[in-house]
Formats: sequence, structure tokens, C-alpha cells
Amino acid sequence: MTKIEIPLNHPRRISLETRERVIEGHESNIVATAGLLAHGRGEAFDYLIGEKTTELAEHAIRAAVAAMLSADHPVISVNGNVCSLVPEDIVKLSKICNAPLEINLFYYRKEREDAIKRALMEVGAKEILGTHDRPSAIIPELSSNRRKVDPNGIGAADVILVPLEDGDRTEALKAIGKFVITIDLNPMSRTAIHSDITIVDNITRALPLMVEKARDMKKLAKDELRKITRGFDNSENLAMSVQIIMKHLEESANNIGKLRTKFKAGANYK
Ligand code: ATP
Ligand code: MG
Repeated sequence: MTKIEIPLNHPRRISLETRERVIEGHESNIVATAGLLAHGRGEAFDYLIGEKTTELAEHAIRAAVAAMLSADHPVISVNGNVCSLVPEDIVKLSKICNAPLEINLFYYRKEREDAIKRALMEVGAKEILGTHDRPSAIIPELSSNRRKVDPNGIGAADVILVPLEDGDRTEALKAIGKFVITIDLNPMSRTAIHSDITIVDNITRALPLMVEKARDMKKLAKDELRKITRGFDNSENLAMSVQIIMKHLEESANNIGKLRTKFKAGANYK
């Protein structure tokens, strides 16, 4: 595929470049076709949030990193979209938090698993859990092939980071007693609602911040880290995230008239 040149001054440049990355991930087998659509849903919510990391998201990031650093067995679940968008940062976060990476695919294909594993190894991952050649345990609450988890990974984990996750699986992970952290641009998704900590932000912005915070917070005592996590209220976080969207929509409604005047929309009709 020829690479699309996106003008430097394009107002959606970062978003379009990110889209290109997901398309490339699809072409190299990393991203499932449904992953392209899931990305589009994320883009729409990013637009509504204002395409920037809010203070609320930063607050959630701090609580999430504290939970991962103070966990006994933290694990990071990786799917195709996560791997195509933030391969380096997910490997860095895994190393800083001593949290193994586990591949988990909704649309399983061995080629996809291999492509993801290869991409993560290329950027420095040493070990990947959840692959077909590893032992597997079952989450009884789920019926799809996503029931399978690695007994040394998610199976043994107390804290799990599951970015861009589906609601059924999040509910199942909660049902088996895991502390679940997610990154999801939609504060109304089932995943967002059922998780213990939801970072309402684009994974492309959230992950580098998580890496930075994890480096800073690693020196804190476990007690102090636990206090940060316990002080976080996800219901309040999600309600305020929806408020941010409403405020943004209200501002847009007020500005639409001005934008139409600028371009004399409707004036060329004869
Ligand atoms: P749920 O199953 O939790 O109710 P859903 O069915 O609406 O959610 P899924 O396709 O299952 O959505 O999960 C993908 C989720 O990932 C969506 O909520 C989407 O907003 C979010 N998402 C997609 N791309 C990104 C991204 N780059 N950063 C953060 N979130 C994203
Ligand atoms: Mg879903």
C-alpha cells in the first residue's frame, strides 16, 4: 500500500497518522478487521473528548500505575490494536512494573498471534504469555475462545491492565475476583463501567504517560501506592468524563453558527 502523506497543518493529522498505523497493523496481520471498526469507535469518542488527555485521565493514570506497582502479580493483556498502536510503550510499562504481557485475541488466528508476538519481541519483549504453545486455564464465566487465559499470567494475576477490552470479558474478569484497569475512550462502555479504574483517554497518549509515571512512582512505598489507588473513585471519574463530553458538545453547538458564517455555508444556492 502507498503511504498517505498527511499535510503538517492538517487539523486531524495525529488522528490520521494513528489511523494509518492501525491500517498497517491490519495489513501485517496484527489487527483484526473488526479491530479497524473498534478503532473508529474510539476515534469518535476522542473527538467528543477534545483529542487531549484531561486532568481526570491523568488522575486515573496515577491510580492505575499505583495499583500495578503495588500488585503481587500484575499482568498486561495485549490485543492487535494495542500492539499496533503502542508496541514500545507497552513493553516498557511491562518491564517497569514487572507485569508480563499476555496475548488475548477475540478473533483468534494463529497468524495474528505470531505477528503480535513477533512485533512485541522486535521492540524488546523477552517473554509473551497466552500463546498457543503455553498451558491454558479457563475463565468459567465466558463462552467464547477468550475463556482461555495463561495460568501463569491472567490466571494468577491480582491486577490486570486490559486496554481496549470488550465488556463481556471485563465482566468475567471481575467475576473471578480480579482488579481490572482499562483504557477506553468511551466512558459509557460496559468495560469502562465494570472496571475498577478506567483511563478515559486515547491509548496513544495514555501509555507514554503511564511509562513516565511508573518510572517516577516506582520509588514510593507499597503502602503509599495502595493509598493512592484506594483514594480513586471510578464512578465519579466516569460521571465527570461524560460531563466533559457534554460541555464539549455544548461549546460545539454554540460555535457551529460562527463557523458557518465564516465559510458562508448555504450562500451559494441559486
Ligand atoms: P463494551 O463491549 O465494553 O460495551 P463496545 O462493544 O462498545 O464496548 P468494543 O469494540 O468491545 O466496544 O471495545 C473497544 C473499545 O475500545 C471501545 O469502547 C472504543 O471506544 C475503545 N477504543 C478504541 N480505540 C481506542 C483507543 N485508541 N484508545 C482508547 N480506547 C479506544
Ligand atoms: Mg464490546
